[in-house]
Amino acid sequence: DPRLQGISDAIRVVPHFPKPGIMFNDITALLLRPGVFKDAVDMFVERYRGMAIAAVAGIEARGFMFGPAIALAIGAKFIPLRKPGKLPGEVIAEGYVLEYGTDCLEMHVGAIEPGERVVVVDDLVATGGTLSAAIRLIGEYMFVSPLANNIVQISFLKSSFIINTP
Ligand code: 5GP
Repeated sequence: DPRLQGISDAIRVVPHFPKPGIMFNDITALLLRPGVFKDAVDMFVERYRGMAIAAVAGIEARGFMFGPAIALAIGAKFIPLRKPGKLPGEVIAEGYVLEYGTDCLEMHVGAIEPGERVVVVDDLVATGGTLSAAIRLIGEYMFVSPLANNIVQISFLKSSFIINTP
């Protein structure tokens, strides 16, 4: 797809951020270019429209920049997967290991209904730990194994997954 080159070119690479040795892919540079931002959203929308997606779950914080636009365009609800202590209602939580230390994602109980098909969106996958935690979170909530046939697709940016809940 010719749009991919433009998307790739619009992502700024910042060396040594947030610490020495890390090459940080800064997607805020892409957000400053409405045409490219639209291309990125459109590519997800084209992939997921018509697939009976009930929910788009965005991972805090940069999944919140793409998820709602995709959700609105495909007629799905948006579910924030947040860092600990941010959601006011009853939550289910899933921890994960980072390069240094651990982190956790939380989701409101009741955000997803049984049988719904969910797309998980984030801006970038490095080790895959964050996205795996999101998939486990939804999978455990719905009592499905992430290793079962519930994950049916991985996106072009490898930053969104579909999960079919039972
Ligand atoms: P992972 O869990 O796959 O190792 O790291 C991915 C998570 O860290 C995502 O939530 C992503 O937003 C963030 N992340 C890691 N490296 C980068 C980067 O270079 N650029 C951006 N924008 N996010 C990153």
